[in-house]
Amino acid sequence: MKRVGAHVSISGGVENAPLNASSIGAKAFAMFTRNQRQWHSAPLDPASIEAFKVNCSEAGFLPQHILPHDSYLINLGHPEPEKLEKSRQAFITEMQRTEELGLVMLNFHPGSHLNLVAEEESLGLIAASVNLALQATRNVAAVIENTAGQGSNLGFRFEQIASIIEQVGDRSRVGVCLDTCHLFASGYDIRTPEAFDDMLGEFDRTVGLRYLRGMHLNDAKQQLGSRVDRHACIGKGMIGADAFAHIMRHPALDEIPLILETPDAEGWEGEIAMLYGFAEEER
Ligand SMILES: [Zn+2]
Ligand SMILES: [Zn+2]
Repeated sequence: MKRVGAHVSISGGVENAPLNASSIGAKAFAMFTRNQRQWHSAPLDPASIEAFKVNCSEAGFLPQHILPHDSYLINLGHPEPEKLEKSRQAFITEMQRTEELGLVMLNFHPGSHLNLVAEEESLGLIAASVNLALQATRNVAAVIENTAGQGSNLGFRFEQIASIIEQVGDRSRVGVCLDTCHLFASGYDIRTPEAFDDMLGEFDRTVGLRYLRGMHLNDAKQQLGSRVDRHACIGKGMIGADAFAHIMRHPALDEIPLILETPDAEGWEGEIAMLYGFAEEER
């Protein structure tokens, strides 16, 4: 079955995330493991960890349906050693928090070269950062999100994602999350079933479909190839509802988290219901 959810709030404690997800009819969810706007956070409280696990199990969320997202402050490809180290420490902490919560993957944006070093060099730094984080944990996979290619952000071409994965030591613990808005903004047309399947075929040839661990379902405010990261509500942007109906019927996308990061949190319950409605319609 399809596992549609949204990036829900952890306000009041991480244990509230599964409750928030359940209340909107989600069958998967994303969350931050801490305040994403600060470099440092207090360790997770053992009672909070326990409550998180109980709430997940009561609501029927398995670890593979939960895709935590790292802080936007982190840049694992930072060309300046001190800042790279700060990002790496923060990422390792988040991987460890993910593991403490009994979860199995952490979604991250690869990083930016900031126009200070060549793309290849920054991709190498990102892969080395992932290797360090994998060494500091046992069971958590680092899940690379494709980007819109805004500014000097890497990961907007499948070749860049493949390059990172090739340099990771333990490939059983690296994965990919494809964001539909970022795909479209970076120039991969997914508006029709044929175009979507061509994209997925290219992903399979360049990266490997076996690495796909989740998707972010967002429509796009800007046109194809804009390199602008602006999410729109499902069916209200330049991608259009047909693409999402196709995703909901696509057999290769069963049982992975399909996470809404659309702008209107009040509308998520309706968007989830609409997406499940697409899955039931005749092809
Ligand atoms: Zn995303
Ligand atoms: Zn985005």
